[in-house]
Amino acid sequence: MSRLVMKFGGTSVADIERIRNVARHVKRETDAGHEVAVVVSAMSGKTNELVGWCREAGALHDAREYDAVVASGEQVTAGLLAIVLQDMGVTARSWQGWQLPILTSNAHAAARIEDINGTELIKRFKERKEVAVIAGFQGIHKETGRITTLGRGGSDTSAVAVAAAIQADRCDIYTDVDGVYTTDPRVVPKAKRLDKVAFEEMLELASLGAKVLQVRSVELGMVHKVRIFVRSSFDKPEDIDPKSNHPPGTLICDEEDIVEQQVVTGIAFSKDEAQISIRRVQDKPGIAASIFGPLAAANVNVDMIVQNVSGDGATTDLTFTVPASDYQRSMDVIGKAKAEIGYEKVDGAQDVAKVSVIGIGMRSHAGVAAEAFRALASRNINIRAITTSEIKFSVLIDAEYTELAVRTLHALYGLDK
Ligand code: ADP
Ligand code: ASP
Ligand code: MG
Repeated sequence: MSRLVMKFGGTSVADIERIRNVARHVKRETDAGHEVAVVVSAMSGKTNELVGWCREAGALHDAREYDAVVASGEQVTAGLLAIVLQDMGVTARSWQGWQLPILTSNAHAAARIEDINGTELIKRFKERKEVAVIAGFQGIHKETGRITTLGRGGSDTSAVAVAAAIQADRCDIYTDVDGVYTTDPRVVPKAKRLDKVAFEEMLELASLGAKVLQVRSVELGMVHKVRIFVRSSFDKPEDIDPKSNHPPGTLICDEEDIVEQQVVTGIAFSKDEAQISIRRVQDKPGIAASIFGPLAAANVNVDMIVQNVSGDGATTDLTFTVPASDYQRSMDVIGKAKAEIGYEKVDGAQDVAKVSVIGIGMRSHAGVAAEAFRALASRNINIRAITTSEIKFSVLIDAEYTELAVRTLHALYGLDK
């Protein structure tokens, strides 16, 4: 007997028919004698609709009320799945974040899970053979008693946190693809499913744009040693062997568990980027602080930073990227600090994208990035900025070339084969 967490994303619970399909997956596991906690997302499109309503209701809405609104999507699916399970003869009970409770920080709309007490769930597994159906994405802040949400894609994090809390043997992330691929299979049909991905690589893939897992869920999995499996909810529930220890999908695991490590594991991309270039800024100590200090104070996450060595010894150009949604705010901050910083003008571009190549093998292989620069040049793709770190590098390019760049690099590193 195993103890499992089964998480189902938006497309997997998009309507009642799909919720029935999910229930059959759950029943397969309980029939095999496993103890199951299910974590569900809102029905697909629901969270976007709720976010849209908040914006329509008030451009500068209160984040506490945003959370009260957007958490409702998961409440609905948790209740519906419990009803369908009961209808199939499976004992089940739904749980909202505040009922469990899933305790979080006070950072509304981007809260972090601090604690989950799994005792009651385990007691009910033992005493009633009851499946717990938990609303993902939401929690409660202990001191204020207010509902919080974990940021977009946060149900993955709920699932991994629950798995850690109940010491589950595995956390299965059921989604609309059958695993983690070398890149987004919707963009590159030749992308291949990976059997295993190391936590470190998955962290990079997720934070650089592969939305299949929320970054925080990978961090939690790494810290608490949760076995995370990414797999498809569209595989026929009855065709799967519930006794199998390695169901079809991708295992996120420790680096040591991967026998055949490739140099490049995958490629991620993000169009959620904007570029800001400050022209003829004074080249003297303290300038970077005068630019990035106010941006940090405004809660803007600056990503790539490129600064030239001054030619004339007096001024230089400085380029950096911010999330597209923070572009206008960042421009305002830089504009307001003009006197302090001292520059000629600011240029911005919003039609840019970041393409990143990730692989633990890069630690021990030189020249991986150089090959990419040559390949992109041969396609006439101009690189605006570059960043590198131990196991990845990223290039900033014009957004219109994103797909071409991803496909070019995917082929270059032999990931098509
Ligand atoms: P869910 O609603 O189940 O949480 P998401 O839409 O959040 O699903 O994540 C799954 C999607 O992630 C896939 O449909 C796929 O388009 C996208 N994706 C991006 N990069 C990858 C990748 N490397 N491997 C698999 N899927 C990816
Ligand atoms: N429903 C939330 C979202 O769309 C959380 C999730 O699905 O993981 O972001
Ligand atoms: Mg998701």
